Amino acid sequence: MARQWITESNHNTIYAAGQSNVEFEKNTIDMDPAYHALQKYFGYTTFLPLQKDIIQDILLKKDVFVLMPTGGGKSLCYQLPALLLDGVTIVVSPLIALMKDQVDALKANGIAAAHINSSLSYDEMQNVKLDLAEHIVSILYVAPERLMVPDFLSALKRLNVSLIAIDEAHCISEWGHDFRPGYRQLEVLKEHFPKVPLVALTATATSRVQEDITTQLKLSDPKTYKASFNRKNLFYQVKPKDNAYDQLLQYLKGHKNDSGIIYCFSRKSADDLANKLKKEGHRALPYHAGLKSDLRAETQDKFIKDDVEIIVATVAFGMGIDKSNVRFVIHYDLPKNLETYYQETGRAGRDGEDSDCIIFFSRSDMGKISYFIEQKEDETEKQIAYKKLRDMVSFCETGTCRRKVLLEYFGEMYDEVNCGNCDNCLDPKETIDGTIIAQKIVSCVSQIGERFGINYIADILCGSRIQKIIRNRHNIVAAHGDGKEYSKKQWQAFTKELVRLGYLKSEGDRYPIIKLTPDGCDILSGAKGVLLTKPEEEVKILQKDVDGSFDHDLFEILRSLRKKLADDASMPPYIIFHDSSLIEMATYFPRNRSDFRTIVGVGESKLETYGELFLNEIISYCEKREHAPPFPIEEEAYSDKSGAYSVKKIQETHPRAYEPWTEDEDEMLTADYKAGKTIEELMGLFGRQRGGIKSRLMKLGLLS
Ligand code: ADP
Ligand code: ZN
Repeated sequence: MARQWITESNHNTIYAAGQSNVEFEKNTIDMDPAYHALQKYFGYTTFLPLQKDIIQDILLKKDVFVLMPTGGGKSLCYQLPALLLDGVTIVVSPLIALMKDQVDALKANGIAAAHINSSLSYDEMQNVKLDLAEHIVSILYVAPERLMVPDFLSALKRLNVSLIAIDEAHCISEWGHDFRPGYRQLEVLKEHFPKVPLVALTATATSRVQEDITTQLKLSDPKTYKASFNRKNLFYQVKPKDNAYDQLLQYLKGHKNDSGIIYCFSRKSADDLANKLKKEGHRALPYHAGLKSDLRAETQDKFIKDDVEIIVATVAFGMGIDKSNVRFVIHYDLPKNLETYYQETGRAGRDGEDSDCIIFFSRSDMGKISYFIEQKEDETEKQIAYKKLRDMVSFCETGTCRRKVLLEYFGEMYDEVNCGNCDNCLDPKETIDGTIIAQKIVSCVSQIGERFGINYIADILCGSRIQKIIRNRHNIVAAHGDGKEYSKKQWQAFTKELVRLGYLKSEGDRYPIIKLTPDGCDILSGAKGVLLTKPEEEVKILQKDVDGSFDHDLFEILRSLRKKLADDASMPPYIIFHDSSLIEMATYFPRNRSDFRTIVGVGESKLETYGELFLNEIISYCEKREHAPPFPIEEEAYSDKSGAYSVKKIQETHPRAYEPWTEDEDEMLTADYKAGKTIEELMGLFGRQRGGIKSRLMKLGLLS
């Protein structure tokens, strides 16, 4: 059975982890139309965890509270019911800037969606109103302030409102970090629409915020769904902040064309790093609160449209980024707490594809954060901030699974022994007893009067007789030549590690000198033992095996086509197809419409709009390369290509999904169907997908 985690005892709360299928009450509804719409409009064959149950409750007109991490698939929870319910679904969303993209994405899937906000011209506004009056809008996005304008509200009441979804619902709570007074007005929504189901969704909710959402929106006995906050596709990694820039360049070399965000602590460092990367030939731009708002909007737009790959940003960047193909989030400086870290790394990999989260860590960054904490007046707030900073540092310094530390910080039990997707699980660090090493370094620092840098210290320990040492008469201190068992490079690495661990400190930016700390003095007295990382000659960023199971050349060709089409339509490329769709195309080489239709994310509308264009590229690529595995799916074609994301997922839940039907199976299927088994039951019995069962029943003449 799938692992479940429970943190609160609320009979009305459903928790899920990973792929678990949660039991729901007897009160059920036929979900066939939902599966049909999922295929037709979104091009997906299965639901993500909890989606099905949430949709079922909404269709039963219940109020629902949804807590899911970024990328969990919240939008579909209200977009799909909107298509099945009569009338219009209202989506309350805080970010005007995002509405257009959301509406464009829905339209690209053939769904009648619209938004109303101040960015529309008078004529555009009238058109939307006209469409609403004529009942041709299924989903309408509005900001809370607009929704609660009395005239607008009365106009809506005259329409048939089928569902109201409150996105980013935490904005209603003063205890959340994005409180927005406009959301507070939603308190009276239930009075205006007593019979309409409300669904509140958020990715960030402490129990206090959750309570606020439920009480303020006056949700009536809501079913609460909490998804696991484990982002399985994110690879967590912490690297020592030594030569961080070189490490970064090395990483970027392996990730050309990938979109990513690099977070820095200050505006100046964001500007500097972006400039340096630009000089190296990367398309990088800075983003922070010191830039004019027009420029910020332009930069964000370029990133969303894949015109620039790398944004070097302060925390100011991120809210309002719905981009699905962010492949890496790098923290060049230490984040101030794990909440920020989780939120910022959460922007990677919304499309479910593998993505990297890397921190360059040095304890010396704590000083910068402490400086800001010290500015706080409230003593309790200060203490909380320090505690959070210490938790952040422990995350960086842990030798155990990072995923476990992160999830348990947020109250979710994680009991896998090896997550398989963090540096500590993939490449456990070997440590050695470093007490003597540390003692040698600390006493050297003390003997030379805390006035020199790391290089000099290493030179002394190695017994170097460079002029500077002779001139300072440091060739006669006890530490001179006391460390010949290790190389200069290794002594440098040990010293840096001692700084990171707080046993020494580094002062000054240009020519940093190493000084003692009280903790370091404890080492000298022998009161404390130290574990150090086993020395290695070179520090490398762990590069995970790249998924070689798809054709990268074809992927690039399709990516350029997507970019061109997106530019022509002034849309972000991911609205046309997510990376996962392109990866499947470059894995299975579909060469006709019906093959193309089985690619993840290809619904009817996208098949019509883009099918031919993409098929042409794929066909001409296959002809040129004489390189074309068979499609439609045959057993052999799949046996060595199981790496593709959605196919792999389908095979996990429907192990025989791609296997040909045997005569025996046909016989059993006929008998079971005639005996009254439902399609759901048949799916389980035969290990196949809904579509597979249905089309076989049709072929056997049992279903029309
Ligand atoms: P959230 O709002 O929770 O951050 P989104 O609604 O943006 O998440 O969905 C995250 C990603 O998952 C999107 O790329 C979306 O297209 C994809 N997705 C949603 N539902 C499904 C599904 N049933 N099957 C496959 N992918 C899905
Ligand atoms: Zn792990």
